[in-house]
Amino acid sequence: MFVKRECEVLVVGAGPVGLMLAAELALAGADVQIVERRTEPDPDSKAQSINVPTAEALDRRGLLPAAADPGQRFTGHFAGLALDPDLVDWADADLVAHSAANRCRMMTQRHLEALLAEHVARLGVAVNRGVDVVAVDETVADVQVGTSAGPMRTAWLVGCDGGHSTVRRLAGIEFPGAEPEFVGYQAIAEVADPEKLGTGWVWSQRGAYRSGPQPGRVATLEFDAARARLARGDRSAPVTLDEVQASLRRVSATDVTLTALRATPTRWTDNTRQAPSYRRGHVLLAGDAAHVHPPFGGQGLNLGIGDAVNLGWKLGAVVTGLAADDLLDTYDTERRPAGAWVLDWTRAQTGLMRGDDKSAALRGVVADLLGTSAGTTYAVKKISGVTQRVGPPGDHELVGALVPDLWLRDGSRLVDHGHGGGFVLLDRTPEAAFTRLAAAWGDVVTVVADDTVITVVADDEAALMGALVRPDGVMAWATDTGDSAGLVDALRRWAGAR
Ligand SMILES: Cc1cc2nc3c(=O)[nH]c(=O)nc-3n(C[C@H](O)[C@H](O)[C@H](O)COP(=O)(O)OP(=O)(O)OC[C@H]3O[C@@H](n4cnc5c(N)ncnc54)[C@H](O)[C@@H]3O)c2cc1C
Repeated sequence: MFVKRECEVLVVGAGPVGLMLAAELALAGADVQIVERRTEPDPDSKAQSINVPTAEALDRRGLLPAAADPGQRFTGHFAGLALDPDLVDWADADLVAHSAANRCRMMTQRHLEALLAEHVARLGVAVNRGVDVVAVDETVADVQVGTSAGPMRTAWLVGCDGGHSTVRRLAGIEFPGAEPEFVGYQAIAEVADPEKLGTGWVWSQRGAYRSGPQPGRVATLEFDAARARLARGDRSAPVTLDEVQASLRRVSATDVTLTALRATPTRWTDNTRQAPSYRRGHVLLAGDAAHVHPPFGGQGLNLGIGDAVNLGWKLGAVVTGLAADDLLDTYDTERRPAGAWVLDWTRAQTGLMRGDDKSAALRGVVADLLGTSAGTTYAVKKISGVTQRVGPPGDHELVGALVPDLWLRDGSRLVDHGHGGGFVLLDRTPEAAFTRLAAAWGDVVTVVADDTVITVVADDEAALMGALVRPDGVMAWATDTGDSAGLVDALRRWAGAR
């Protein structure tokens, strides 16, 4: 195998986050390559769905049509309490503003990884499989990386190498958090006596289990700190039929028998940790390498894709000399709070799922709230990610938010003009005033002129006269009038001084 010994950015890990990041870097003009320890993509089934920001990230690069058909409305659950799609207020302004990417959609992680692997191949990014990173040494001039295929040199190293990140450890970035208190299993099995099990989530003093909805699908959650610590320490040990059956028997207090496993089972704990900084010198972290938490509510993959699209264009601008190094500080300030929120969202669920009486009582209260339209709509908005933003609003309330669906006269949407990975400037002034101000940034800004009213989703957006959208879909500047105040500052801040 030929591995290029030098590059501007070396991404470690070809999971969903490493692939997405490498693609964004390539679009920004960086010389990037990936090294991946596995010789083949991971066959394990993990995430089953993507949220709205992930769907929109794919959409911005023209990849959404290749994603699975959205089919049914996916609303998810909170601590095992199913969120009823019929209770959601789908006319809620935040949900409507992001409806073009069709809300959350079912899409397996394997499918997403395959789609992203094709995307990076089209962009000419080398994915060097079977290469394990074993040493990292940052010098004044570069980062020296020891790999199983020999030494490599890179200006920037990004660890997208998962929760047990070698890059994080070798760079000396801490990973504080709490020890796990439960261990969970998920399996598809032949059940000899399914009548012994209840349906849906069934709770007990020891935890909970779920049987169904597909025949043979079982999941358990066992609150047992000693077992959880053991499972975390022994994470590479294959999950056996006996182990799943024993857990199911303990939490169901039955002698149910599993006779065979029909797919590779998974084991997880509520190990919850976050790096206190996503960067040390020229080494950065993204995805599970920067944060881990239990997979409740399907947030991990989405959080990592959010990291990748936030970091990609910024690091790309730094390595191509368009922006100063301090642009990267905003990666940490924007993405660490997003990670901290997801960790809290899963901690809240762990608290609700404990087997003790207080947690059971609290579960009853939350179940009542989630049985209302307002409660379910609140949870669905949080899980779907439509209210995500990267900071407080600027002069316009949309600044910092994800760009809403903005339909143009020709039937396209504003984001359809950003497939190349740059900024998109909407200019609805008759005299193209914003376009002239942005002329110096013409290499990274695509201008969309539209002199008629755009079909928009909420009354206050109908007045939008101009908008600057960052490559990651965040609104950098917006105005309801022909006033250009703030536009040049936003361009300087995000696209570099010219
Ligand atoms: C059972 C389960 C269910 C889940 N369900 C959901 C869900 O419903 N929704 C959701 O959003 N998330 C879910 N997740 C979480 C999601 O799978 C992860 O958040 C996601 O895989 C993180 O992607 P990543 O690219 O950061 O890391 P990974 O997918 O872990 O990829 C890291 C890559 O780095 C490689 N690597 C590691 N070390 C090295 C090294 N030293 N050198 C070279 N390569 C290396 C690995 O081989 C791997 O391919 C689930 C996880 C589990 C376990």
